[in-house]
Amino acid sequence: MNIVMVASEAFPFAKTGGLGDVIGSLPKALGRLGHEVRVFIPKYSLIPESAYNLKHLWDLGDIYVPVGDQYYPINVYQGKLPGSDVIINFIDCAHFFSNRWIYTNDPDEDERFILFNRAVLEVLIRKNIKPDIFHCNDWQSGIIPALIKTHPYYKSQFPESAIVYTVHNIGYAGKFHQDGIWKAGLSYDYFYPGGPLEFYESFSFMKSGLFFADKITTVSKTYAQEILTPEFGAGFEGLLKFRQSDLLGIINGVDYDIWNPEVDEMIPFKYNLDNLENKEKNKQYLLKMIGMNYKKDRPLFGIISRLVVQKGFGLLAPLIDSLVKKDIQLIVLGSGEAEYEYLFNLAHKRYPEKVFTFIGYDNELSHLIEAGADIFLMPSIYEPCGLNQIYSLKYGTVPIVRKTGGLADTIFDWDERQTAGASDGNGFSFFEKSPYALYQTIERALHYYHQPKTWKKIIQNGMKMDYSWDRSAESYIQLFKKAKVSY
Ligand code: ADP
Repeated sequence: MNIVMVASEAFPFAKTGGLGDVIGSLPKALGRLGHEVRVFIPKYSLIPESAYNLKHLWDLGDIYVPVGDQYYPINVYQGKLPGSDVIINFIDCAHFFSNRWIYTNDPDEDERFILFNRAVLEVLIRKNIKPDIFHCNDWQSGIIPALIKTHPYYKSQFPESAIVYTVHNIGYAGKFHQDGIWKAGLSYDYFYPGGPLEFYESFSFMKSGLFFADKITTVSKTYAQEILTPEFGAGFEGLLKFRQSDLLGIINGVDYDIWNPEVDEMIPFKYNLDNLENKEKNKQYLLKMIGMNYKKDRPLFGIISRLVVQKGFGLLAPLIDSLVKKDIQLIVLGSGEAEYEYLFNLAHKRYPEKVFTFIGYDNELSHLIEAGADIFLMPSIYEPCGLNQIYSLKYGTVPIVRKTGGLADTIFDWDERQTAGASDGNGFSFFEKSPYALYQTIERALHYYHQPKTWKKIIQNGMKMDYSWDRSAESYIQLFKKAKVSY
């Protein structure tokens, strides 16, 4: 199949979270299955052309892309996803992407991604590429489904293409002023209370994707069920219920060329199940690097996350003072909402022997934490898939998670499995959204941490699990084949 994948991030070029990891790895797996995949992301000016050997496509001629009543010139750069032959195209438009990183709160945020969506279609038309499948991801590419289904020109250009829209996080609606509709070249016929483009009197890119795509996927089976309810649907649950027969949950895979302690170039001591003593050496290295003391049998907790309400730090906040009274250490890497940055910075200041906080984004440190920590904390309120808990399994870093979305689908509580007569638990989980439930779960994990034989078994269960892309990529292909053009 000829697949065009459109998104706002792709690792290693531009990443803020899991979406970047997925777009950096799923196309490679689809390519391995014999399909032709072209990826499109914006060319944020901070993506260095020379470091990635990107080529400017001169032969496309001048392309001007309309946003409202303005026309903006664009350029296209091309490269390959590292370790593959998958082509990635970068839409360059100085006006919108120069000196700005992926997401902004600027007043022209809607225009940035309207330009990107229309530019992708213009480039395909110029190159005479008629994809079998458009695979759009999250609100940043949610305009493409509406353009292809309703805009006379784009409709005529891609009459055979089917559209699959993947929700990586329903919590980000891409909600903008209704002026965005004419800026995108769409018709106000679709803007009325409850209509395809209307969302709380505004224009939502996410709604456009959900309404006009032929098939919808999200990134775990449990999340696909959860988003049908008001608690998780973020206002889209009605539309999703209406479209339920076209909705499928496919768990994300991970790229074990990158996230695997046997080959990870960012950790000093490689390891696998047979030489776990090297994991301990990574812990010593990490602690030394951040200026903390190492003591045998003292567990190190790790957090790598966007610091936002979604990730459940509201459950952790009231526990910090009691946790630091225990013989534990905690390392936090992340950035986000001021409240949580303050919380962890304060803990670092007050308990420098116990808590280390790095506010910011640091890919290398994230690998070191996966390798060096003993326990990974991810008490999310909701979690579409979550990747860090899956990385943690491979790194023998036992996850403590809240049972929601992809966390519920990948982490199996040790005690719960024991009660069911099985010894295949790979972590610890809890359901109730309360600090106390999290605290109890941490206590349970610490109890087993001090029982080396059991702990090793839990680590082994996790390290043996295989979440590589192959199976999930096959599920995408099956779905792509079923996606029938519905107009
Ligand atoms: P989400 O997409 O909701 O942010 P995921 O668990 O799906 O959460 O993916 C998060 C990805 O982003 C992981 O690869 C994680 O390592 C990475 N990440 C998150 N915060 C940081 C950070 N501050 N520094 C480096 N990597 C980070």
